[in-house]
Parts: sequence; C-alpha cells; structure tokens
Amino acid sequence: MSEPSPAVDEPTVLESFQQNGFSRRTFLKFCAATASLLALPAAEAAVLAENLATKPRPTVIYLSFQECTGCLESLTRSFSPTLEHLIFNVVSLAYNDTLQAAAGESAEAAREDAMRKAWGKYVLVVDGAIPRPLDGAYCVVGGKSALASLQHVAEGAAAVIAVGTCAAFGGLPLANPNPTGAVAVQDLVRDKPVINLSGCPPIPEIITGSVVYLLSFGVPELDEHRRPKVFFGNTIHDRCYRRPFYDKGLFATSFDDEGARNGWCLYELGCKGPTTYNSCATMKWNGGTSFPIESGHGCLGCSEPGFWDRGDFYHPLSTGRWGSGMGEKLAVAAVAGAVLGGAAAVAGRQRQKARNDASTQHPDHPEAK
Ligand code: SF4
Ligand code: SF4
Repeated sequence: MSEPSPAVDEPTVLESFQQNGFSRRTFLKFCAATASLLALPAAEAAVLAENLATKPRPTVIYLSFQECTGCLESLTRSFSPTLEHLIFNVVSLAYNDTLQAAAGESAEAAREDAMRKAWGKYVLVVDGAIPRPLDGAYCVVGGKSALASLQHVAEGAAAVIAVGTCAAFGGLPLANPNPTGAVAVQDLVRDKPVINLSGCPPIPEIITGSVVYLLSFGVPELDEHRRPKVFFGNTIHDRCYRRPFYDKGLFATSFDDEGARNGWCLYELGCKGPTTYNSCATMKWNGGTSFPIESGHGCLGCSEPGFWDRGDFYHPLSTGRWGSGMGEKLAVAAVAGAVLGGAAAVAGRQRQKARNDASTQHPDHPEAK
C-alpha cells in the first residue's frame, strides 16, 4: 500500500503534542504505552517513537453506516492511547458525523476538502455494514447512500480500517434474514488494504493501537479474516484465567450453582471462548478492569464472522449447536478445543457425580441411611 500520509502542512505527532501543551516526556510515555500495547520488541518501540516524532499526522476520515454507535462509544473509552490523544495529537480527524462540531453541508464540504488535499494518502475508518440492494437506499446519510459514500471515499484512501463486526463481517445487519442485503466493507473494497477490527464492539485500545501501528509501520500482519494477529492471534480460551478449572474438568452448570460461585469454567454454560479470537482475556475492558467471563458470563463469540446466526449461545460447543457461521471452517485448534472441552466436561461431570455420591454416602447425609 502507499503509506498513510499527511495532508499538506500537518505537524508531526510530536509537534502536535507540544502545540497542545504536552511535553516531549509525555510524548515518549505515550509511545512507550502504545509499544507495550502492541507488544513491540524494544527495537521496534524505538522506531515507533522515531516515526511518530518525524512523520506528520495523517488525515483520517471516519464514516458510520448500519451500526448502533457502540463501536464509537467503545472508542471514546480507550485508556491508552486515549481518544483525545488520538484525535488531537496523532491523527487529523477530518470527518466523523458524531464527534465533529460541524454539521450539514459544511461538514460534507470539509470532508471533500480533506480528501482532495490528501488524495491517495488518507486512512478511511468505517463502522457499520452497508446495504447493497436498491442502490443502497436502506442507509442514506446526508442525501447519499452508504454504498455510494463508501465507494466515493474509499477511492482516494491508502487503507481502510473496518471497525466492529458489522463493518468487518456484516454483523447484526447481515444476520438472518438480512432484510437490507447488508454486506461487509471487504465485500465492496477490493483494491486496497482492508484491516478488520472485529468485536461487538471492538476493544477500544485495539482500535487506537491499530491506527497508531498503521501510521507508524503500515499494515500489520493479519490473520485469515484480515485481523491484526497481535490482537487476534489467540483465542479467549488460550488466555482465560478460568482455564485451570477447564483443564481440571471443573465447570459451572448453572449461573447460580456452586461452580459459578467458585468461579469455575463457563464452558458448560455455552462459553464460546475456545473458538473466538480476541484479546478480551488479556487486555480486558474499561482500562483493564474486567471482561465478560470475569463477570460470570461466557463469551458469545462476538468477534467471529456470523456469530449471531451460528447457533445457541447457551449450549456447550461440544453439543454441536454452534455452527461454523458463514461457511468458513473453524480453525483446527478451535475444533480440537471444542472436542477437548466436551471430553473435559464429561470428565468433570463424572468427577462432580463422584463428589455428590461421596457426599450422599457420608454418614451425616440424610440419603445415606
Ligand atoms: S471455556 Fe470459556 S470460561 Fe472456560 S476456560 Fe475457556 S474461555 Fe474461559
Ligand atoms: S468475551 Fe467474547 S463475546 Fe465478550 S466481548 Fe470478548 S469476544 Fe466478544
């Protein structure tokens, strides 16, 4: 790809920090925190700081289509880098119809102006799916269909970032019966890099971290679904703190049983962690406070294609009531995990039964008589 580049006369990221009253030390702390988020080795962390100190801020245009604004809500809660640092210091945000002060024709004119100045060099960020039938008539913003807007703005972009499962894979709008004929960004943009940051919503630091990485190094290494491997290289299950209970066959079997109270594995309650690639178990949410499994609910698999239509959220993977989504095959490791999960669950039930039997045979138990 051509590197995302600045509009004319944009300051470097370091200059932008300084213009906004931040010291060089704050800039370096920002770089260190971002490098840590991206798990960069020391040498690349130094390159990141060097690039951000010398490269001017690139222009970013952010379009929202068929979505719930949850992805942007998530982005506003990024702790490191914060959204403020991102939009005031790291990028030049030329258009976002929720965050920008301008409205109506002046907003559209500002977008066209930014596109003209940075043609071929700006980054396009998209959240939401795009309906295709009737020339895109099911989603119209500012008198222009989402379909036409995407095609128009993508034409001059260096790269496109699809934020959230709706933009990445069609998400909820595409769910059966897909009444508006919604498709994902990658179904329409085929002549330039598309980076998918899936999740419903995505973890905010994944959005900000990916933007910074793209600006500094270009397109990161992607998985088969075009997701950055640094954030989507492991399953939730690979890094889940409840994994030791899974390995011992200790499972909660209802949301208020002894297993649930003890914090045992949620596999039997339908957790899709073994087949879901995301960073929730390590990065967590709200600045690393917690994530769904830590709050007692299994993973729903929201960062995988077709998660809404795959099957039953509350039955274990081993029951086969969770399909492979939009035709793609589950990764071998995931299938193996599900099979192992089934075996572990059976072993766990046997152990639980043995414990129950032992307890009912105890001389003090009423049924032991
Ligand atoms: S099945 Fe779910 S709760 Fe259990 S260890 Fe795996 S990810 Fe964690
Ligand atoms: S734990 Fe699973 S369902 Fe929940 S946000 Fe993470 S990937 Fe999505």
